[in-house]
Amino acid sequence: MATEKKHIYFFGGGKADGTGTMKDLLGGKGAGLAEMTNAGVPVPPGFTITTEVCNLFYELGRQVPGGLDNGMREYMKKIEDALDGKFKFGDLDRPLLVSVRSGSKFSMPGMMDTVLNLGLNDNTIQGLIRMSGNERFAWDAYRRFIQMFGNVVMGIEKEVFEHIIHEMKKKKKVKLDLELTAGDLKGLVDRFKAKVKQVARRDFPQDPWEQLTMSRDAVFGSWNNPRAITYRKLNDIPGNLGTAVNIQAMVFGNMGDTSATGVGFTRNPSTGAKEFYGEYLTNAQGEDVVAGTRTPHPIADLDKEMPAVYRQLREITSRLERHYRDIQDFEFTVQDGTLYMLQTRTGKRTAHAAVKIAVDMVAEGLINKEEAVLRVEPASLDQLLHPIIDPKAKIEVIAKGLPASPGAASGRVVFTADEAVRQAKKGKVILVRPETTPDDIHGMDAAEGILTARGGMTSHAAVVARGMGKPCVAGCEAIWVDPKAGKFGAGKHRVKMGDYITLDGGTGRVILGKVPTVESTVSGDFGTLMKWADEFRTLEVWANADIPRDAKVAMQYGAEGIGLCRTEHMFFAADRVPIVQQMIMSNSTEAREKALAKLLPMQRSDFKGLFETMNGLPVTIRLLDPPLHEFLPKREELMVEVAVMKVEKAPKASIAKKENILHRVEELHEFNPMLGLRGCRLGIIYPEITRMQARAIIEAACDLVKKGKKVKPEIMIPLVGISKELSNQKALIDATAQDVMKKKGVKVAYTIGTMIELPRAAFIADDIAKEAEFFSFGTNDLTQTAFGFSRDDAGMFINYYMDNNILEKDPFQTMDEKGVGGLVKMAIQKGRSTRPDLKIGICGEHGGDPASVEQCHRFGLNYVSCSPYRVPIARLAAAHAKLKEKGVGGSLSK
Ligand code: PEP
Ligand code: MG
Repeated sequence: MATEKKHIYFFGGGKADGTGTMKDLLGGKGAGLAEMTNAGVPVPPGFTITTEVCNLFYELGRQVPGGLDNGMREYMKKIEDALDGKFKFGDLDRPLLVSVRSGSKFSMPGMMDTVLNLGLNDNTIQGLIRMSGNERFAWDAYRRFIQMFGNVVMGIEKEVFEHIIHEMKKKKKVKLDLELTAGDLKGLVDRFKAKVKQVARRDFPQDPWEQLTMSRDAVFGSWNNPRAITYRKLNDIPGNLGTAVNIQAMVFGNMGDTSATGVGFTRNPSTGAKEFYGEYLTNAQGEDVVAGTRTPHPIADLDKEMPAVYRQLREITSRLERHYRDIQDFEFTVQDGTLYMLQTRTGKRTAHAAVKIAVDMVAEGLINKEEAVLRVEPASLDQLLHPIIDPKAKIEVIAKGLPASPGAASGRVVFTADEAVRQAKKGKVILVRPETTPDDIHGMDAAEGILTARGGMTSHAAVVARGMGKPCVAGCEAIWVDPKAGKFGAGKHRVKMGDYITLDGGTGRVILGKVPTVESTVSGDFGTLMKWADEFRTLEVWANADIPRDAKVAMQYGAEGIGLCRTEHMFFAADRVPIVQQMIMSNSTEAREKALAKLLPMQRSDFKGLFETMNGLPVTIRLLDPPLHEFLPKREELMVEVAVMKVEKAPKASIAKKENILHRVEELHEFNPMLGLRGCRLGIIYPEITRMQARAIIEAACDLVKKGKKVKPEIMIPLVGISKELSNQKALIDATAQDVMKKKGVKVAYTIGTMIELPRAAFIADDIAKEAEFFSFGTNDLTQTAFGFSRDDAGMFINYYMDNNILEKDPFQTMDEKGVGGLVKMAIQKGRSTRPDLKIGICGEHGGDPASVEQCHRFGLNYVSCSPYRVPIARLAAAHAKLKEKGVGGSLSK
């Protein structure tokens, strides 16, 4: 037996024909309205004409199936009943007005058409005037209706109406629509109608039913307008889904003193506190609340003005929160004493609130721990770990660079590292440099924040600042920096030494003057959430830390080891640079060894500090990596100094000494230092450096073991591309270790592994794994070498690439899954084919980027290592990755 298909679905009066799962048939909006109605939310009643009717409409040559019009009359009656018969469609005294809206399975924002205030005509307007007691509002509603209908349904260009409004304003000598009086608006209605007649060659339809059927067909027709077709193509939405049409009663909050309108949240979206939060206005339209023309009242006042409505609103919004199991952001209208919810959706919140709400909701039994963990975006934790710009502050942004290291900082501008150290004694400073180099480290340490004009997300400034947990805006191409003249410029602005600026490292904004910041605190809830994250994740999280202070921070944030100690950072301390320079200047192995012998005790005590702090957790120490000339003064500066000394007739010996340094700098000069004498190549050409470092590590370990302490050194060889490079270094380390242990009379377990940061290393990973006991992906260099992008210069074009869709993301920020990720996957597979239990981690900057952490989880890495301040982010991201793999969805707050 053929049953007639149901084409219309009602919602209202606490019950809906459809459900929230029927998006195919009712569209997203229709299904949402059904769900809200069934959840007991008083949404204005209405009905949904199904998407199937839309498809029939096209099959029948743009005609609806027979019987639909009659059906609609039946359902309109249902709307009127749901409104207790207070309003009737087309009624002269109490006209019911409706909205007609599209709504397909997938949201297509703004692509299809909507008509509001439908049902108004030259007669019903009088009813609206009487009901509202507000003539201006009624005429404004009518002229808006004609405009919308005229455009959407009758196909009259929007500009035609805009032009008439413009003329009226000119005549009345006013600027804003708001300044037009009821009389003016009535005049507009007349002109609009005349224009409709002239352009469409017919009168503006006065029969509400004709208005309704015409609007319905126009909405169906809008499914195939060029905008919608293009949108579907771009978003892979099939063309045969069709749109539903939602016809819903309009409700008004400006019908007198028993009407009101407002907005609110079920919890405080800023702190997460469980408190009812919002504001409202009596006898007002929704626009009035947001427009700022009248000051809204705090929602608590509604309890005094309309106690029954207030109680109902509290009850409904708590129910909504339970139903959707998340904080709700809602809009409501009270029409003539009856409360209607116009919208409810998941509320946007700060990271602070997100954490508190997630933890509270577990305690309240609304969500489980897995969902709670998924509710907090890992990247948003940055807000909890660094000071942020006071959201209430008025700011003047003068330039924008890369958001290299999060947090906000204000201070006086300085242009050199030495100046930073001097001025920091007197107050907070921001170090502004064209770019930073290892020479600037003391200044970066002294400064509150760092701004550079050049360099990308893995430039020196960015990496070091993140390691220090300091705000940094890098690669800010919009500024020029003139350290000699002591100023920088951004557009028309000139900022001199000593002027205040503020950096927002989380967004890359450079702000003029001193802006108040607010401290972020790590609350108890944050700790609870992190504990849950740890229960779920399988990927370990280690930290990149070079000194005990950083290691302590890392431990505090939950690091399970040190994945990268860049030993060159230890060489840069002010008291060490001269010794390092002496080592580099040496022209014999013996002389070099002499200098290295002075560095040995220093490094040994550094390593001891790290081992002690980490208390038996693995500490991965990487041998010296950067080109040697980085430890020497700059060639150009030396040339100037020599010239000046000559002019000033300085003592010959001093000139000769300077010239000597210059000579060595020139000898060491490389056209492409990133691809030159660096990484393991240094230790191969100068084996005494490797021996000294190995000795320092093993001696430190032995000394501690003797004291009964636990140590776990992992020695890492950088930039290996040839297996023999690794065996060469390994032999040196093993021989040194044997010697030390024999002398110390104690044994320590240490491992030797390598970084995989060159494509060739990935290709021969099976060979490398014969020697290496662990791998750590140096994805900064691997990205640089895989793309052929210089990590220090990529800032010049990467933004352009992203703006122009050549690249989707900055590959130095999020690991490029296809290319670099492909190399990583291959190296893992090859490495483990040789050594199935090979421990594998990552220590490039990607280790702290949530999307990259997810990749690392999927690729089967054992750990990620990131800067200490990113450890919580990586822990949470690792938990997300595992939960997503298990298919735990939760209702993510998007
Ligand atoms: C890397 O290349 O990813 C890495 C961690 O080493 P560095 O940044 O010190 O070159
Ligand atoms: Mg590297």
